[in-house]
Amino acid sequence: MADNNAPVRVLVWDEAPSHAPKSLYPKSLNGAIADGLNEDGAGKIVAATANLDDPSQGITDGALANTDVLIWWGHARHGQVSDETAQKVVKAVHAGMGFIALHSAHYSKTFRGVLNCTGHLKGGWREAENPADTEEIRVCAPKHPICQGVSDFTLPAEEMYGAPFDVPPALVVLFQSYFPLGGEYFPSFAVTVGEGIDPKFTSGPGGGKGQGTGAGRVFYFRPGHETYPTYFDANVRRVIHNGVLWCAHRS
Ligand code: ZN
Repeated sequence: MADNNAPVRVLVWDEAPSHAPKSLYPKSLNGAIADGLNEDGAGKIVAATANLDDPSQGITDGALANTDVLIWWGHARHGQVSDETAQKVVKAVHAGMGFIALHSAHYSKTFRGVLNCTGHLKGGWREAENPADTEEIRVCAPKHPICQGVSDFTLPAEEMYGAPFDVPPALVVLFQSYFPLGGEYFPSFAVTVGEGIDPKFTSGPGGGKGQGTGAGRVFYFRPGHETYPTYFDANVRRVIHNGVLWCAHRS
């Protein structure tokens, strides 16, 4: 693990989605996200990019050894990510690397492996047109570091995901998304995984402190459909920036 004065090293991975409009994301989604982190991080965050078409699918042992937080965006090409690549990521996160899964990464092999879940959207999804869904995002844990400087905000156009979301219980629900077009809700949450969790521990009068906490910090953030300019939104950028610091154990 890096020392606390060194910049947080972030690797922003995407699947090189050909269906993301180049007019909207000329540097792909990972480029937009990395640019935001490098600008807002002001030297305290150094973000690089990788994608599925890179050698070793963009995930090498060397890259992981030099990454504090991995950000993952995938959608149409989850099946092309090899089990070997996914397992490398799972192992690294369970040993303490931070992991941020964005939007449709809910069905990625990495997210499902890290959380040992299906990631199903049991309330469905919707790509509405004329009008598109709006996404009203409510801050549910205002004192959590990931919510610092963020007030309730609305994304004017997004895809809808509906709860229940088939994931393990959250450490904390940070935001609730609400889609007024159909009345659906969907959570963005934080959880810890991996080394340090005692599977035999159930509950106890304080003596269990730490036994339910794993070394790897994980943040799932709901928005980010590829046909909308979500990753240029100032609030979204702030949340991802905050998420990086938390997942790197810096906040
Ligand atoms: Zn989507």
